[in-house]
Amino acid sequence: MGAPEESVVHGSTASPGKLPSVDRLLRQDAVRPLVSEHGHSFVVGEARALLDELRGRAFAGDLPADALTDAALGAALAGRCARRLAPGMRAVLNLTGTVIHTNLGRALLAEPALQHLLAMMAGPNNLEYDLASGRRGDRDALVETLLTELTGAEAATVVNNNAAAVLLTIAALARGREVIVSRGELVEIGGAFRMPDVMESAGARLVEVGTTNRTHAHDYERAIGERTALLMKVHTSNYAVHGFTASVDEATLAGIAHARGLPLASDLGSGALVDLTRYGLPHEPMPQERLAAGCDVVTFSGDKLLGGPQAGLIVGTRAAIDRIRRFPMKRALRMSKLPLAALEATLRLYLRPERLARDLPTLRLLTRPAQAIRAMAENLAPQLAAAVAPRFTVTVVELSSQIGSGSLPVERLPSAGLALAPAAGGRRGTGAALDELARALRALPVPVIGRVAEDRFVLDLRCLEDAGAFVSQLGALRAALG
Ligand SMILES: *Cc1c(COP(=O)(O)O)cnc(C)c1O
Repeated sequence: MGAPEESVVHGSTASPGKLPSVDRLLRQDAVRPLVSEHGHSFVVGEARALLDELRGRAFAGDLPADALTDAALGAALAGRCARRLAPGMRAVLNLTGTVIHTNLGRALLAEPALQHLLAMMAGPNNLEYDLASGRRGDRDALVETLLTELTGAEAATVVNNNAAAVLLTIAALARGREVIVSRGELVEIGGAFRMPDVMESAGARLVEVGTTNRTHAHDYERAIGERTALLMKVHTSNYAVHGFTASVDEATLAGIAHARGLPLASDLGSGALVDLTRYGLPHEPMPQERLAAGCDVVTFSGDKLLGGPQAGLIVGTRAAIDRIRRFPMKRALRMSKLPLAALEATLRLYLRPERLARDLPTLRLLTRPAQAIRAMAENLAPQLAAAVAPRFTVTVVELSSQIGSGSLPVERLPSAGLALAPAAGGRRGTGAALDELARALRALPVPVIGRVAEDRFVLDLRCLEDAGAFVSQLGALRAALG
């Protein structure tokens, strides 16, 4: 970055003895407003920390004398207070090309969900209070009707996330007994969520059937025994097996399970509540399809394709959902009122599917036409080029975005963006130059997150709806690159 690698010290250095006491520092004119704004104890703590840091530098002989003027000390303390109070969770620009990016917070909430969340959290609400009867209510009731309407399920319940939904479903339906799963579906989702481990945590015994690439109906039939409690399908959301493969579909498996009086559960992971092909996107399995095929329970995430807050949605038959809801672990995994408010408002958007591609940011971003993204890239290219010249050159490139969060791993969405390459004859190697650029972009007031691909730094503009948010930072980028 542009900051000098070592600060060049003109003039004298300060000796430790020249540092003011905390009391004297706090009495300075420049510091008194800080105390009245933040209170004494916070500013004293920061003043002590600042003086400790300066003392260390003074002992090391690298504290310029002018760092100890009233103005410099006041500014240093104000800066320190501001940094301590700045939130660690910050808005970033996701230019990675992955729309539902787990590390960047997954789905963006729709405006009505944000409004409802804010309005409901500002005061008391009827979270568990039935306004019709004046009695205690059930928090699930706020979304159960919407979920049953949208999926055709008899009943629905919600928990903290889909990992919790899977854990609770297995524990409630199969604790102390066996769950049959195909070897081709023993997925790891990331973040240490592995199906075999989840089974163990839920207190159920996993019975694996079939092979990695092929599992047949008779594999399940043979594995069913005295101790079997549940058959389970897991959507292999983050990988695809091609070639000589076979798996048993839900309808067939439901027939096998029900003939033996057993329930069938299906973990969809992402799970789309609308048919994505209607918006020109690849088809993603829908909970309603799985229920229609005979699954007793279907679990899916709130903050993947659904486009809402973190949540685990469990839909299914009244009998299965009742068992799940009554299982004591449910209380520990229940949803908080914050995401619940956002979830209800998000689900209501689905009542008007014609508006969904406008109203739901996830779908809006996924359906953004490639030519609109390209037009934005062409518009931004000269401005970015001016900011990074002469260190980097900028070209408009065709890209393919991905949905992310494990959905449709092999499906790519045509997109466009900007590729930055280190100029020939630069003072550093390509890798170092790209690292420096990535760091400079991350250090912007609204950090810009891109990716390195083939010796270039790539910014996919699919998720940049407001070009101004990017352009307004180009001055700072220019300064950082020096
Ligand atoms: C993402 C995913 C999960 C976990 O869902 P979270 O909402 O992240 O807890 C579980 N199963 C599958 C198949 C998934 O894709």
